[in-house]
Amino acid sequence: MTNIDWKKVEEWDNKYILRTFATQDEYQTVPIESTEGDYLIMPDGTRLLDLFNQLYCVNTGQKNKKINDAIKDALDRYGFVWDAYTSDYKAKAAKLIMEDILGEESWPGKIRFVSTGSEANETALFIARLFKNRPNVITREHAYHGWTRGASSLTRVKGTRSGITETDPNTEQRHVPGQQDGVVAVAPSPNCLRCPLSHKYGSCHDETGELACVTYTRRMIENQGPEQVAAMVTEITQGAGSIHPPKEYIPQIRKMTKELDILWIVDEVLTGFGRTGEWFNYQHYGVEPDIVTMAKGLSSSTIPAGAVVVNKEIAEFMDQFRWETVSTYSGHPIAMAAVCANIEYMIEENLVAKAKETGKYFKKRLLELQDKHPTVGPVNGAGVLWMVELVKDAKNTPFIKLDRNTTHEADPSTFPINIINAKALEKGVLIGGFVPNTLRIGTSLDISKEDIDKAIDALDYALDH
Ligand code: PMP
Repeated sequence: MTNIDWKKVEEWDNKYILRTFATQDEYQTVPIESTEGDYLIMPDGTRLLDLFNQLYCVNTGQKNKKINDAIKDALDRYGFVWDAYTSDYKAKAAKLIMEDILGEESWPGKIRFVSTGSEANETALFIARLFKNRPNVITREHAYHGWTRGASSLTRVKGTRSGITETDPNTEQRHVPGQQDGVVAVAPSPNCLRCPLSHKYGSCHDETGELACVTYTRRMIENQGPEQVAAMVTEITQGAGSIHPPKEYIPQIRKMTKELDILWIVDEVLTGFGRTGEWFNYQHYGVEPDIVTMAKGLSSSTIPAGAVVVNKEIAEFMDQFRWETVSTYSGHPIAMAAVCANIEYMIEENLVAKAKETGKYFKKRLLELQDKHPTVGPVNGAGVLWMVELVKDAKNTPFIKLDRNTTHEADPSTFPINIINAKALEKGVLIGGFVPNTLRIGTSLDISKEDIDKAIDALDYALDH
């Protein structure tokens, strides 16, 4: 216990902080005094098991000793140097990602560090438009890629787009190399439960085996003119959208983007660094992207860090380009020290393989809930990222109707997710999530079996209600 005056904290918090995901009237201060492993600890000593892993981003657990020690060591040597100078940490973080994780003999060429996932996606868009010298980009329904201007133009989870929109698609474009304006076209997402093209999985393949949603996307790009399209951007599993694709979807998207000669940008901000039981989610599908964006698990969020990895051809091109802009904190030495320790810890503890195994146990226990509770619909996920949709009936009718872009006008207090969260809290388990009908579960990569059991018991109790 510390002697912090939590009454004052609450007063200043309410008076001065601009809120997220709540109006000031809806907002309630949730004071957290410390964090540990998969737990948040409140000033009165209450320990909350965090099934949200904050924002799915504390992959190696809260207050990881190896990372904390590395940060302290780094602070003994560095305050700050910007990206034109090289700390040993920055070079080593790059080596760990390019050689030890991705394998330098495969696709990756070079990396640029940034500070957030949104910034990583902004950077990827900039590079793709510059490299291809084309303005347009393809995104998908239910996508979340961040909230800054370019990233927001890719985001289709409507409530999270913050009113920052892409250039009007009807406006005539005058394209200047590298400029950030262009048409962002929206492809269907591989939502087999509620197919936007009204197909049924199993009878939606053409004679070549291509899925209808891939064919639709292909035609969309062909009609727009692939020579105007720089890239298609995809999450492999749509995190905020909570959509897990059928197994052939990702390889077919990769094949299509190659055939149409557009870049394929994979957003691994949420899924990278072991969350799905592989270092990166795309690795489940035997494909290689052109650009990958990452953040969150890159530093396990001890200090903000993000990155963009580009393929060898793009790296050669960028080597000829004098890139006269940078974020002040790109490659911040203290963040890079955290990244190095985080990755080394994951390797030493074999955490990615461990998350894969943990995923099997998670699935088994979640399917038990599905057997017991008629309101538990489809269960999807892998590793330590799971999505459980709550439904009204056996036809998977959603409690809260969502339109094509996941908008909802209903009162948040009626959302199944908020009702379940309130009940699970009585058992000391925290379930976050902004998707009204879906329990989105994330934990650290080395959550214990006991804590998974505790989580399932709390969900069982909440679902009973
Ligand atoms: N892409 C994906 C897939 C994400 O889940 C997020 C964050 N939830 C972002 C991008 C944006 O990252 P940040 O919040 O660090 O800007």
